[in-house]
Amino acid sequence: MGDKGKWATHPSERLRVRPGFAIEGFDHRSSPGWKGDEGDAVDEMKRRGQDLYDLQEKLFAEAKTAGGTRSVLLVLQGMDTAGKGGIVGHVVGMVNPYGTQVRAFGCPTEEERKHHYLWRIENSLPLPGRIGVFDRSHYEQVLVVRVENLEPPEEWGQHYDEINAFEEKVAASGTAIVKCALMVSPEEQLRRLKDRLDDPSKYWKYNPQDIDKRAAWDQYMEAYQDVFDRCSTDIAPWYAIPADHKWFARLAIAELLTSTLEGLAPQWPPADFDVAEEQTRIGALKG
Ligand code: AMP
Ligand code: MG
Repeated sequence: MGDKGKWATHPSERLRVRPGFAIEGFDHRSSPGWKGDEGDAVDEMKRRGQDLYDLQEKLFAEAKTAGGTRSVLLVLQGMDTAGKGGIVGHVVGMVNPYGTQVRAFGCPTEEERKHHYLWRIENSLPLPGRIGVFDRSHYEQVLVVRVENLEPPEEWGQHYDEINAFEEKVAASGTAIVKCALMVSPEEQLRRLKDRLDDPSKYWKYNPQDIDKRAAWDQYMEAYQDVFDRCSTDIAPWYAIPADHKWFARLAIAELLTSTLEGLAPQWPPADFDVAEEQTRIGALKG
């Protein structure tokens, strides 16, 4: 895992959803495992951002020239205003854009509705060497679909096992899956929603339907609890990220992503040409 920085306990340990995890009593404002303050977090983000950039480039190089097939998939879920977009901008934004594939999943389009719900997901999986990001995901099928009764319980009730089987297949094909739930408190969400209405540069982020979703907060939390209980597997665990402090959520997810890539230990591929011979040829050239 390399240098631990100011982590007393690494987020892969501290934030991992294990059996018995309960959303009730969750401290949304906490920064579990982090010994530093916000300023330290900014420094650490820079440091790990450089590591992340380099690791992704290595993974990309492996895929380009050495037949590498591995990739990483970051799944982001969370209530409106939880900060999913900020993670894309501030964490994924530290990587070379060439090496990333970002996809947001909204209401299924007419075309998407003609297919199984995993169809659009499967089509958006990262190519070898890339970090794929899902801003919302297949989990909407057991979150919004469940809470808003878009399918009967017999139907959505089957998706948990289906999703686990799907993720097992994705992982077996060489994609490391990192699932992060951004846990914002209802109080902080209210502040952020008000903020959006106070600032014309944020109107575009505001959706009147967010208020209806907020009214069903408890049902959403029940749905999230079931996701945690049933879909936090060894192959693709969930991480519950306290998200009231944006700096902590960003720091924690940057660390989870970077350490996942470290675990893959990508290597610079050896030259597939004779280096000495090429040096001789270059040496003989005149400027
Ligand atoms: P946003 O992420 O703010 O752009 O909002 C996207 C909206 O699409 C959210 O309200 C999601 O709940 C909704 N959404 C995503 N996936 C589905 C789905 N499978 N069925 C219905 N609504 C969905
Ligand atoms: Mg929204």
